[in-house]
Order: sequence, then structure tokens, then C-alpha cells
Amino acid sequence: MADVLVIGAGPAGLAAAAAAREAGGEVTLLDSSDVLGGQYWRHLPDSRPAERERLLHHGWDTFTALRRRLESDPHVRIVTSAQVWAIERDTGVPAVVHVLVGPPDAGGRQRLALRPDAVVFATGAHDRTLPFPGWDLPGVFTGGAAQALAKGERIAVGRRVLVAGAGPFLLPVAASLTQTGATVVGVLEANRLSTLVKGWAPRPWQLASTHAKARELAGYVANHVRHAIPYRTGRAVVAAHGTDRVTSVTTAAVDAAWTPIAGTERTVEVDAVCVSHGFTPRLELAIAAGCALTPDRFVMTGPDQQTNVVGLYAAGEITGIGGVDLAMAEGSIAGWAAAGGPPDDKAVRDGRRRRAAYRAFAARLEAAHGIRPGWTGWLDSHTIVCRCEEVSFGRLCGAADATSTTSLRSLKLSSRAALGICQGRMCGRSVEEILAGRVAGGRLRDEVVADQRPIAVPIRLGDLAARRDPEPPTASPSQSPTPNETE
Ligand SMILES: Cc1cc2nc3c(=O)[nH]c(=O)nc-3n(C[C@H](O)[C@H](O)[C@H](O)COP(=O)(O)OP(=O)(O)OC[C@H]3O[C@@H](n4cnc5c(N)ncnc54)[C@H](O)[C@@H]3O)c2cc1C
Repeated sequence: MADVLVIGAGPAGLAAAAAAREAGGEVTLLDSSDVLGGQYWRHLPDSRPAERERLLHHGWDTFTALRRRLESDPHVRIVTSAQVWAIERDTGVPAVVHVLVGPPDAGGRQRLALRPDAVVFATGAHDRTLPFPGWDLPGVFTGGAAQALAKGERIAVGRRVLVAGAGPFLLPVAASLTQTGATVVGVLEANRLSTLVKGWAPRPWQLASTHAKARELAGYVANHVRHAIPYRTGRAVVAAHGTDRVTSVTTAAVDAAWTPIAGTERTVEVDAVCVSHGFTPRLELAIAAGCALTPDRFVMTGPDQQTNVVGLYAAGEITGIGGVDLAMAEGSIAGWAAAGGPPDDKAVRDGRRRRAAYRAFAARLEAAHGIRPGWTGWLDSHTIVCRCEEVSFGRLCGAADATSTTSLRSLKLSSRAALGICQGRMCGRSVEEILAGRVAGGRLRDEVVADQRPIAVPIRLGDLAARRDPEPPTASPSQSPTPNETE
């Protein structure tokens, strides 16, 4: 029986764990969070259960059924508060997975080194926010942070909030804000109506197979109407103002490339603003394990979600941004294959059908809501791009203009951009786009370094120093209910 390790217990990881069990595998499911569900089903901890949880989440019954099934299965070991911080290649197993179990900043966390027969990476994505003047003021939130506080803590980020950026994610953010008592003064989508129509309208009959998304969308639209929230397209937040915290923002109409149009500026008084321009995949573990990436920098997978490394699979937002249904379809295919399930089984055929439908949906999403290059037009030379190292747009451009190198690594070292505590998770892609726009030929060398983090998350030096190399396994995989591990 194959030992399958699933990293990440969001929609993709949960579906992978369930499918791996169906195919007869022994499953270990890890997540750094203290609850299962990932970003989509983020909820209050079990110690503080909410009566209305079901009303706040789409697909809540799907989630609770999956969770019940996995929690009651003796062949599934679930470990929460389990941070995978490094992956090593080794002979005999596809990867050695190093885990710290315990509260994130606590000392003395339990150390595990797992040697499974197969791994499913389902580590999801970070939300991406483009910089603008004043975005480092208190009261400016990423959409994901606002969503996490609303869903995971029932905290509204402000009383009078503007939501802006690009993509359908703005709608659940606005809905969560209203559910936590905030007044949402508007939702601004930077793409113009014509771009949205061009992205969504072709071959509308193909959308019939993604009706779950249409139902979800209808729920958000109803919320908008009920709370009379204006939704404007072709408009962006181009600056935030305030001293101690944000008190107002400037919005402006933007053209199809997102270049701000002079003379269209408006001031909106707010005490918080939530900005989100899409998502960036969390690739560090997959890269460390040797997985190849696609040209648009997602984990490359084959028909059964296997990466180029035998025994390593990937599913969900790390293979492409497509939402919960695509994540679950990919997870079910990956988990099944990782546990050695036969490739022509009905269960996996259904997963493939759903995957095809939702991949087409994801392509529309990108065409309609993707980031356009004109956003750098709302930066001024003082705008902070890398918040950890306080690198401004001017300094970044200066670093590129002062040399003929096209190496991202070298430009990062000379400007310090993306080298701070977040290791470029927040600013990395924006730094790259700005630099690429300045160097000869418009293309950087060694761009993949931006996602390479051999130590995947910040850990204590004590934990690093205390690390021992894994010892040889003491039991064969077939005898052990969990991946071989040493502590
Ligand atoms: C902040 C945020 C909020 C979102 N909210 C919504 C929403 O409200 N509605 C919506 O439609 N879409 C939302 N999305 C998009 C949403 O993430 C996807 O549609 C869906 O959840 C993707 O599922 P997934 O399983 O691929 O990833 P996720 O749901 O992100 O799950 C990945 C899991 O992997 C775990 N993980 C990652 N790295 C490690 C590690 N090193 N060690 C251990 N565990 C790890 C994470 O803790 C997480 O639980 C949100 C995205 C983000 C980034």
C-alpha cells in the first residue's frame, strides 16, 4: 500500500487525500494552519465554533463531509500546525520532507522528516497586490488579509471600506466585509467592461458545465444589490492618503492597459481599503523538490497531475489559478494516481471531465481579469515597492539603469528588493515586472530565482541548528500506517 503525503489541506489537498484513500493508499495530510479547509473554507477554530459558518461559505457541506470522512478514517493521519519548511531529494524516495509541528513562533516544535512513496503538493497561492503610493499605510489591506480576518476571526478591517483591484475574488471580499458589519463603498475592477466581455463572452455554452461558479456568482451579485454596493470597471486605486492610517484614496479611470487617465481622479473617504490583483502560486517546495515549471511559472504537470519528478504530484492553485472547483478536480486526480489507482477508473474519468471544464474557465478568468502592464504608470519615484527592505520605485529603476546586466539575481542584490523577511512573496513579481521593463530586451535572466526559497518559511535559528538528518526507515512502507519518519 503506497504511503501518500499530501501537503496542504485546502480544497485540492482534501480532495487528493480522499481520492488517495479511495485508491487504497495510506495518507498523511499536513497543513500549517490549525484547521483544515485552506483559503476557501477558512473558518473559526473548533474551540470557537460559529453557528452561522454554513451561511458564510459556498460548498460548506462539501467541506464538512470531506473533513468528516478523512477524520474518521484510521488510514488517514491529519497533522495541523505542521509547517513543511524544507524538501530534499534523496535516492529511494521521491523526497524527504522536513516538518515542524506546533504553534508558528513557538520554540521546541516537534521535528519530523518524512519519506513517503508519493507526495501531492497542494500548497495554494498568495494573493497579489500591486504597489501604489501610500499602500504601506495602516488601513491598506490585501484582499486576502481582509478575507482571512473576516472568515477566520470575524473581524472587519474598517467601517467604511473600498475594495479594488482585479478579478472575481473582489466579490467574496466585499461579501465577507458586509457580513462582518463594514460598509463597502464600492468595488473597482481595473479591467474595462470591453476586456471583461472579450474574456468571458466567447462560446458562452461552454460555461454551462461550470454552473457551480454561476451559482456562486449569483450569490455575490445578490449581496451587492442588497447592500447597494456600486461596481465600477476600468477604475483603480492609484494612491492612498493619511498620516497614522488611511483616511482617503484617489481613484482614477485607467485605459485597457491600466495606464491611469489624467483628469479622471476622484477622492473617496475611507478608513480601510482592500486591494487584490490576483494570486501568485506558492512554489518553493515544488521547486526545491526539482519540479519543472511552465513558462508562466506554475508547476508543470502531466495528465495524472504528476510533475516531471516520478512520485511527485501537484494540484490546485500551484498548477494554475482557477478557483476551488478546478483545485478539487486536480486534487482528486493527483491523489488517485499518487496512491496507484488505475488510470481508467470511473472516479478519475469524472475528475478529468471537471478539470477540463474548469481549466477552460480559468483561461477566461485570466483573459478577462489578468494584470495589464500599464500599472507602473501610477507609481512615483518615492513609492515603496519592496516593503520589507523599503526599496522605492526610483531606487529600483536606478539600479537597473546603472548597469547593463539582465540578471534578476544581480539586480536584487544591488537594490536589496525582495531580499527581506517575506523573501519576495509580497513584492517579488512586481519587482520583476518593473525591472524587466527597464533592462535591454525587456527580459530578465534567471527569473525563477524569485520563487526559490530553500528554507520555505521563516524558522528559528534554533530549529535550524537542531535539525538532524533523517535516519534510515525502521519499517517498510507497507507495514507502517504513515510515511516513514524520524524525529
Ligand atoms: C488569502 C486568500 C484568500 C482566498 N479566499 C477566497 C475566497 O474567499 N473565495 C474564493 O473563491 N477563493 C478564495 N481564494 C482563492 C482560493 O485560494 C482558491 O480558489 C482555493 O482555495 C485553492 O485551493 P488550494 O487547495 O489550491 O489552495 P489553498 O486553499 O490555498 O490551500 C493550500 C493550503 O496549503 C497550506 N500550506 C501551504 N504551504 C504550506 C507549507 N509549507 N506547509 C504546510 N502547509 C502549507 C496552506 O496553509 C493552505 O491551507 C483565496 C486565496 C487566498 C490566497
